[in-house]
Amino acid sequence: MEPVGLSWAAQHAELLLVVAAASLLLAAVSLGLLWRQHRQNTMPPSTQRASTVLDSAAHRDMLTGLPSRPEFELALDEAVLRSERGGNRLCVLYVDLDNLRSVNEAFGHEAGDAVLRETANRLAGSLGSATIAASRIAADEFAFIVRGGRADGQRAALALAAAVAQPVPVSGREARLSCSIGIAAYPQHGSRPQLLGNAALAMRSVKLAGGGGHAEYDPQMSAALRDQADLLQDLRAALVHRQFELFYQPKVDARSLQITAAEALIRWRHPQRGVISPALFIPLAERYGLIAAIGDWVIAEACRQAAAWRDAGLRMRVAINLSGYQLRQDDLVGRIERQLLQHRVPPARLTCEITESVAMEDTQVTREAFERLRKLGVHVSIDDFGTGHSSLASLRRLPAAELKIDRAFVCDLQSNEDARSIARAIVQMAHSLGLHVVAEGVELEAQRDLLVEMGCDELQGYLFAKPMSAQALALWAADDGPEHHGGDAFRASLFAETRPTELDP
Ligand code: C2E
Ligand code: CA
Ligand code: CA
Repeated sequence: MEPVGLSWAAQHAELLLVVAAASLLLAAVSLGLLWRQHRQNTMPPSTQRASTVLDSAAHRDMLTGLPSRPEFELALDEAVLRSERGGNRLCVLYVDLDNLRSVNEAFGHEAGDAVLRETANRLAGSLGSATIAASRIAADEFAFIVRGGRADGQRAALALAAAVAQPVPVSGREARLSCSIGIAAYPQHGSRPQLLGNAALAMRSVKLAGGGGHAEYDPQMSAALRDQADLLQDLRAALVHRQFELFYQPKVDARSLQITAAEALIRWRHPQRGVISPALFIPLAERYGLIAAIGDWVIAEACRQAAAWRDAGLRMRVAINLSGYQLRQDDLVGRIERQLLQHRVPPARLTCEITESVAMEDTQVTREAFERLRKLGVHVSIDDFGTGHSSLASLRRLPAAELKIDRAFVCDLQSNEDARSIARAIVQMAHSLGLHVVAEGVELEAQRDLLVEMGCDELQGYLFAKPMSAQALALWAADDGPEHHGGDAFRASLFAETRPTELDP
């Protein structure tokens, strides 16, 4: 017979191990507590203060003073537990500022930090007693837990957006921010571990749609975002794989219908998805920092093409579209200048189209870029004019040579008296400022006739030609005399070339 003690120990070896481990842990914890107490007792007061600051630094974000992410996660644990016990509902809101980067670029990083601090203050104060927790999660990302169901979540999102939208005074001027907000309600939109991630996903879907708004989490968002992530990955490789091409759409003289210029419009030939519209991938490129490289390619390619046309005896200006992000880039004008030089294209042959909303931003950086473009001798054209509600005074400040009436006014011309009055006023105002006026999106002869009668200088639109390859444009410009530019008189072969119709409505 085995001794009782030994057999008990053998049978309960596992239990003994657990007890031993637990005692060790207890000893360690008590030692830790003792050490901390000892440290605090023996530390000089200044070191104690420093230690408290360091302790709170681990929990608080230094710049904004808001709790940091670990604190937020703890608060979320607690809020979910309480919600399970008491049946009360809660929402997580994920806020991402849309344009802090441009504030940093326009005003400098120190001012950017001040704007961020002020915005964080406003965000944290905007929800009142509904807030359970507020946190700065990352650089310009914040998260909130609020009491209540989905309707309360939506209301909180509106309050947060309104807080961000208030202009922030900085260096005697104003910074204007907007934000994208995702909402995940508990328990409808996920379990505890999924809540913050799902709110972030909803925020990203708002970004995807252009930012400046809020959305509730929806399980389908994951698929859409994955699709977007794939597209982004392909976009990163598109330059290397030479998948971009410039198409050109002529601008014609309103009276003679002679071609005066060609606007370069980028196309992406995706190996699987076919031709992808710039309206889809340019915003993506802007958001993920690819616009600089793509924009540089456009500048170089347009200059190369302008030189090739000149060498072939074709005299016309070439226009490129510049994004606001490019204008804020370092040395954009220097790079344009170098490409013009390399291809021996006189600067006055190049037009840079910049949308009205970007042109009117009036930050130091955009003003400098405009001024340098003017000095270089490149023409600046204000694109999509009429949508941005600019004043006459602000227009006068810009060193622009051309103004393009937005398609929205042109397409209503023949049917809408207001559109006619606006177009007429734009033409008169632009002429009084010495600007050349182009109407874009001209599709009907009735529109053309009205625009000519109003005194528009140049016209552009499907009535004359769709965007087409450089080769097709050369044929079009050389072979089709002005008498053909009325619309339906294209040669069949050319017309086929002028139909990149996968893109055009
Ligand atoms: P946008 O600069 O306002 O260009 C005019 C757009 O209207 C073009 O669309 C053109 O194909 C289309 N269009 C021209 N005439 C007509 C017409 O008569 N009827 C209709 N319905 N549409 C007409 P696209 O080529 O898809 O370009 C869309 C936008 O993408 C451009 O608007 C521009 O903002 C941007 N984009 C295109 N290429 C570039 C580029 O190289 N760089 C940058 N930053 N943006 C570009
Ligand atoms: Ca344009
Ligand atoms: Ca336009």
